[in-house]
Amino acid sequence: MSNLTATPSAEECRGAAAETATLEVHAARSTEVGALKVRRALPVRGRRMVGPWCFFDRYGPLSFTSGKPMDVAPHPHIGLQTVSWLLEGEVVHHDSLGFESLLRPGELNLMTAGRGIAHAEETPAENTGKLNGVQLWVALPETHRNRPPGFEHAKELPAIEERGGTATVFMGELAGRRSPAAAYSRMAGAEVTVHAGGRVSLPLEAEFEHAVMLLDGAARLDGQELAPDTLYYLGTHRREVEFSAEERSRLLLIGGEPFGETVLLWWNFVARSAEEIAAAREQWQRGERFDEVRAYRGPRLAAPAFSGRPIPSASRG
Ligand code: MN
Repeated sequence: MSNLTATPSAEECRGAAAETATLEVHAARSTEVGALKVRRALPVRGRRMVGPWCFFDRYGPLSFTSGKPMDVAPHPHIGLQTVSWLLEGEVVHHDSLGFESLLRPGELNLMTAGRGIAHAEETPAENTGKLNGVQLWVALPETHRNRPPGFEHAKELPAIEERGGTATVFMGELAGRRSPAAAYSRMAGAEVTVHAGGRVSLPLEAEFEHAVMLLDGAARLDGQELAPDTLYYLGTHRREVEFSAEERSRLLLIGGEPFGETVLLWWNFVARSAEEIAAAREQWQRGERFDEVRAYRGPRLAAPAFSGRPIPSASRG
């Protein structure tokens, strides 16, 4: 998907990991991606990154009888990976490398933008009439951010099975289970299901910072009731997290080694300098650097205006 609400200035995002375990509560903010209403949980005021995770949109659940609730025309990305994960419904991905991938719940679409790729994401013509999911971005470290672009779809993902629930690891590593998807820094990304009346304990990497969002149902984190559409930041030095629920509930757990680089986020780009953003924007507008997404019917997105001035993270709402 696409950060269509980009302002003219880039947003400076610095990893600011808490040095201890903590519990910060960040309400997601409402915005739109095309016609689709989303709740943006990263970046938000006071929390820009969690490990390498720098962007987190939550959309749905919604039902429809016609049309395409998701229809994001071709747009470019640099310096990041897009991580697409569904709870219900379908999304079809097309990119400038020629990949086409139909995403279903419990599967992963992972696009590594590297030095540059363009893609489109749409609700397919054949669908269940439901849409419910998340899209996250992972910032690529300096050593990998200019790598060739790539795309992968993973259907078989490792799961941690407990009596009280399960955790499916879609990115990085959790509790000794490792996702087959390409990761370029140490991280964890998992969907946790807690059965009705269940309890799930997961060991955490103490060096990582972590965050949790309740996706559906009603669950508790270490005994505390969780509100929907809210990012709970857990800090570092946590060796375990426990979820419990009266009704079947699902949660998203993300984490990673604190990202040691300050990144600039603007539109669909993760970069290091305003010059780099301006160059990528110009190249997209002129039809250079990024290949066409041939499978998409319709015009591609035009880049918004870019002022060239980064806004420090401290002064941004
Ligand atoms: Mn996108």
